[in-house]
Amino acid sequence: MHATPGVAHILITGSELVTGRVSDVNGPFLAGRLSEMGIPVAGITVVGDDRERLTLAIGTLFRAATLVVMSGGLGPTGDDLTRPVLAAALGVPLVAGPERDGRPPYPLPQGGEPIANPKGSAPGIWFAQGGRALAALPGVPWELRAMWPEVARRAAPLFGGATRHRALLRTVGLTEREVERRVRAALERHDLAAVEVGVSAKPLAVDVHLAAASPDTLALAAAAARGALGDHVFTETDAPLAQVVGDALRRAGKRVATAESCTGGALSAAFTAIAGASDYVDRGVVSYSNAAKVEALGVPEALIATHGAVSEPVARAMAEGLLARSHADIAVAVTGIAGPTGGTGQKPVGTVVMALTAADGTFCRTFHHMGDRPRVIQRSVTRALDLVRRHLLGGVAGLERDFPPG
Ligand code: ATP
Ligand code: MG
Repeated sequence: MHATPGVAHILITGSELVTGRVSDVNGPFLAGRLSEMGIPVAGITVVGDDRERLTLAIGTLFRAATLVVMSGGLGPTGDDLTRPVLAAALGVPLVAGPERDGRPPYPLPQGGEPIANPKGSAPGIWFAQGGRALAALPGVPWELRAMWPEVARRAAPLFGGATRHRALLRTVGLTEREVERRVRAALERHDLAAVEVGVSAKPLAVDVHLAAASPDTLALAAAAARGALGDHVFTETDAPLAQVVGDALRRAGKRVATAESCTGGALSAAFTAIAGASDYVDRGVVSYSNAAKVEALGVPEALIATHGAVSEPVARAMAEGLLARSHADIAVAVTGIAGPTGGTGQKPVGTVVMALTAADGTFCRTFHHMGDRPRVIQRSVTRALDLVRRHLLGGVAGLERDFPPG
């Protein structure tokens, strides 16, 4: 294999990762951090704890990339092969590392340096030779994350300190295709087509990554993208939507309550996953059965009998009933059919009715979400968070404008 200058390769080790028992989280983390530094990642290789295959992978990748970042197998137990295999693959002896106050030192391939592990016991290894390097990190994800800054500091000079200037715009409510179309068109209009655009999508939430060679170009590109996406942009930091909505509730001095049927508490969980949520979350009711809607929220039984549990009148009654029974300023209700069963011709799987009620009135809309059960739930949560965000921007009248019926 030829040396490819200026690329990194990620090598993930561990037998549990090649049997499907554990999903790799270190590869995507490392790939994300390296990409943010402007270092192209040639690939992510996953290899089991097998001496021969590991030796082959390390030898091949170390010759082919400027930087190899490895994870796993650094501990002292029998299945932890990284230290001896590294030495063999790099063609150097294994020697004792630095003393560790009384305890036996971890071995290092000769010429390697330890990378401190602030969250665990086994240190990492930095091995540099002829303008290229290999960093070996533990497999435990939070240890690896804590050690990344030191690897980044050591790795940057190998790539000539090449930096790209980066911006992130997080959007909600548009499809990935629509976001990309709008951003590319705006960049072209402003003669900024050279700016790198990447989009990554979760259901209903699309991130736009911009990268440019200079901070001035980046600022122009971000302004163009912002103009094209309008108030679909909910933040330009890496904060999740629930946090942005929570901060907005806190700033407005408002409290929220949730009445959930098909999302089963997922909306409440999204709100309360954010530290400090007690500032603005009043309560959440999971009213899954019809009886719960009647007893906990005061929804009239006749309303359910006439319109069905998944209907605008019932969603309204859920939100209004909860607002009256709580100490909240805003109540949100979600009722729908998450599937895979329960759909009808009139109300197919993915039909989700949401209502938001506040002092200035009640907004109610029926949405049709695509996908399997987890996706319908996730999209419903995202949509409900966005309704609260947009309500705070413009009140119920604003929601009526943003989500016209039909
Ligand atoms: P230790 O000193 O704790 O043994 P180690 O470097 O030897 O650290 P491993 O033995 O490979 O690490 O893995 C430790 C734990 O971390 C295991 O529970 C393993 O499943 C988990 N783990 C390892 N690699 C990954 C990965 N790439 N993604 C997710 N979890 C991982
Ligand atoms: Mg181990």
